[in-house]
Amino acid sequence: MSTNIATMAYIAAIVLFILSLGGLSNPETSRRGNLYGIIGMIIAVLATVLGPRVTAAGFPWIIGSLAVGGTIGLYAARKVRMTQMPELVAIMHSLVGLAACLVGYASYIDTSIAFTGAEKTIHEVEIYLGILIGAVTFSGSVIAFGKLSGKIGGKPLLLPARHWLNLAGLIAVIWFGARFLGAHDIDAGMMPLIAMTVIALLFGIHMVMAIGGADMPVVVSMLNSYSGWAAAATGFMLSNDLLIVTGALVGSSGAILSYIMCQAMNRNFISVIAGGFGTGEGAAPAAAGTEPAGEVTPISAVETAELLRDSKSVIIVPGYGMAVAQAQHTVNEITKLLRERGVNVRFGIHPVAGRMPGHMNVLLAEAKVPYDIVFEMDELNEDFPDTDVSMVIGANDIVNPAAEDDPTSPIAGMPVLQVWKAKTSIVMKRSMASGYAGVDNPLFYKENNRMLFGDAKKMLDEVLVALKS
Ligand code: NDP
Repeated sequence: MSTNIATMAYIAAIVLFILSLGGLSNPETSRRGNLYGIIGMIIAVLATVLGPRVTAAGFPWIIGSLAVGGTIGLYAARKVRMTQMPELVAIMHSLVGLAACLVGYASYIDTSIAFTGAEKTIHEVEIYLGILIGAVTFSGSVIAFGKLSGKIGGKPLLLPARHWLNLAGLIAVIWFGARFLGAHDIDAGMMPLIAMTVIALLFGIHMVMAIGGADMPVVVSMLNSYSGWAAAATGFMLSNDLLIVTGALVGSSGAILSYIMCQAMNRNFISVIAGGFGTGEGAAPAAAGTEPAGEVTPISAVETAELLRDSKSVIIVPGYGMAVAQAQHTVNEITKLLRERGVNVRFGIHPVAGRMPGHMNVLLAEAKVPYDIVFEMDELNEDFPDTDVSMVIGANDIVNPAAEDDPTSPIAGMPVLQVWKAKTSIVMKRSMASGYAGVDNPLFYKENNRMLFGDAKKMLDEVLVALKS
């Protein structure tokens, strides 16, 4: 393939990636957006592999790598459960970071292109920054994977003087950078490069370990952004324009998403990155499963069905538990039935419901819940006082009134869906255990609240049977 054709293919791929991002921003166009992304990626891979910079000797390596990587990817995508998607995304981000590090070291020891003067300095700066961002992304993503999968506790590790530690790390990285750029040969440059890599790896671990459970959504999208910048840095090292643009698209969209999530959670972006948020600066969150004081009023599936049948308006608030129980199809059945009987059913989606951005939207779309009855938190919060029943399905933190009422709560300030303002709220969950942030929920003890204990799918099946009878 000639350089001109490869360049044209790259431009087509870039346009498709931009259309893909545009499509993914709305549930109705997201399938099309996904398709654009897939076609763009196929064009990008083909144009690179068949492009002028790959020689025939490289083909066996490339085909072998595609086969191994493709098989692992296919296996992971088929095997992963919907609730494990955030962990998969985190571990994928770590691979982008690792790739940036490996490409950086390979570029440094590759003597086939002899750079001199300013070009040499620019190339070395690209390598240094690429490995720096790659190493932070790699170790940070591995820790995020550990936290999201429960292999590492969600409680933040708040080392004394941690900000000073970070500052000392930054100064050391700059100092080693100066030594790296001043090195006369590869051997002399290797020591500062390795030292910086170790510091960057430790920084990535420290950064994510210090972030409280409640702020993990921001970390996931922040690491997504980092992985984009790591890819862009790899593009600079390899002089690959497509990788630079694609990396910048991922980097900037991830940064915008992190900002939007911070706003949705009333968090300051800098404070989230500095760590410790989500715990009230060291106040340990309540352990999951602790039994707080107060009386709760249980309700049966049959009584729930009666309440729903007698309602004029219902707001359903799904959370992580709906994903665990895979209850979205039954939720759709109930919604259809109630709407046929003239009940105004709507869905309220919190920006951090579930375990990844858009988690609930994906599940509801899969179950074919109509898009026009699915609303974001801000669009619906004022309507709760005029609602007969708010039905909380496996959600906890996102409907916790303590976020509004208790300034000492670890999730204080996070906007929540005000389900307790409905005439009756029903919370569907298996026990009194706390949610992801590990904090108690006073909603359960409110006078107008009822608890429907049990697996969400099982209980909703019973509600559906009762509604039909
Ligand atoms: P929570 O984790 O706060 O609560 C989920 C609840 O679901 C639990 O209390 C659990 O209670 C219940 N549950 C679990 N399994 C079932 C089941 N099979 N049937 C019925 N109930 C079940 O989830 P929310 O969606 O309310 O809030 C999301 C939380 O996750 C927030 O703290 C957010 O910060 C965090 N987070 C969000 C991310 C994102 O991008 N969206 C990423 C990472 C973290 P029980 O065990 O008693 O059944």
